[in-house]
Amino acid sequence: MKKHDYLIVGAGLFGAVFAHEMTKKGKKCLVIDKRNHLGGNVYCEEKEGINVHKYGAHIFHTNDKKIWDYVNSFVEFNRYTNSPLANYKGTLYNLPFNMNTFYQLWGVKTPEEAKAKIKEQVDVLNIKKPKNLEEQALSLVGTDIYEKLIKGYTEKQWGRKATELPAFIIKRLPVRFTFDNNYFNDTYQGIPVGGYNKLIEGLLKGIETKTNIDYFQEKENLDSLAETVVFTGKIDEYFNYQFGKLAYRSLQFEHETLEIDNYQGNAVVNYTEANIPYTRMIEHKHFEFGKQAKTIITKEYPKEWKQGDEPYYPVNDDKNSTLYQQYKKLAAETPNVIFGGRLAEYKYYDMHQVIGSALNRVKKINDE
Ligand code: FAD
Ligand code: UDP
Repeated sequence: MKKHDYLIVGAGLFGAVFAHEMTKKGKKCLVIDKRNHLGGNVYCEEKEGINVHKYGAHIFHTNDKKIWDYVNSFVEFNRYTNSPLANYKGTLYNLPFNMNTFYQLWGVKTPEEAKAKIKEQVDVLNIKKPKNLEEQALSLVGTDIYEKLIKGYTEKQWGRKATELPAFIIKRLPVRFTFDNNYFNDTYQGIPVGGYNKLIEGLLKGIETKTNIDYFQEKENLDSLAETVVFTGKIDEYFNYQFGKLAYRSLQFEHETLEIDNYQGNAVVNYTEANIPYTRMIEHKHFEFGKQAKTIITKEYPKEWKQGDEPYYPVNDDKNSTLYQQYKKLAAETPNVIFGGRLAEYKYYDMHQVIGSALNRVKKINDE
């Protein structure tokens, strides 16, 4: 008999939900993380009374009432609605692409006029079946929006030509013919009152956790502590990069405290032109309607992941998706290890999807 049923590597949402659910079932869990805190990428750091989203802006949204009720059982959520602005060469546009954007771009005032304008631009391109992000974007919104609001941002974010990226990435963004600046189509949305750490604290309450422990530094010893390992780190690293390295996008965050109470008047402003090196500027207090005297802003600079950086986004292009399939096969053949979450499943998961994935995994194990 080993001391724990589960050793959970990674205290992000996947690890925390898995640990919570299994503990509820009477299993003994140990959660470790190599960072000096719990929470993975949703972790917030308090500065000047403001919750700073240390690893990038996080807005919770879902259509699934069960998941919404689940997170609300740990912490109350506020009514924050994400409505970012795009700054292109000094002019502001509303996002996602909606009647406000179309009015700002072309002066069109009715959905009929907007649809006609887009159709005129889409028809001349004659794209039958979009094969990549560029073709997908062009056939959804036409050339003007693609050139001003998509191409520069996308190519900075991914460090690749939009023609080399999968179409599904752009399908995340709504296109709508109403004057509605809500970035998401989901029914439920908000930010935990008091920040994401409250959600993580709720999930991990009463569970043994250890930070500053890198699994690979003491793998043998850690493996000996539990019957099963739940691994939420990089899948290629787990297998010692034996088929080659998967590509990830990383980010560099430049945080700044300003002696004014309101800098940009909105939580998120995207910079969509190619020659500004950051993709977005976040003003954290606006996620929680903060009234503090100072403000904290963060510029987000995308870069290719290399050893020592934080891997944030899987690059789900053809080459990497094929490589991932090799690792996935190996993972399926590895006994007593469960691979889950954004890095181990190499999937562009949002928070609600990661929670859903962890809950499904637990259910499957319990049904077996
Ligand atoms: P993570 O949170 O990455 O957790 C994995 C953990 O494993 C990390 O803490 C890591 O330190 C640890 N770990 C890795 N390797 C080891 C090791 N060898 N030893 C010990 N520990 C290890 N989703 C939304 O729904 N809305 C948003 O607005 C949103 N915005 C985002 C913005 C950015 C910039 C990013 C990067 C993501 C965003 N997401 C958003 C996605 C969201 O962050 C993820 O869906 C979710 O946090 C993933 O949880 P996870 O547990 O899979 O991974
Ligand atoms: N995107 C864009 N312009 C924008 C915002 C997003 O072209 O102003 C594209 C870009 O390719 C990005 C994708 O839409 O990677 C998804 O955007 P989202 O805001 O969902 O990205 P995330 O929050 O995951 O970084």
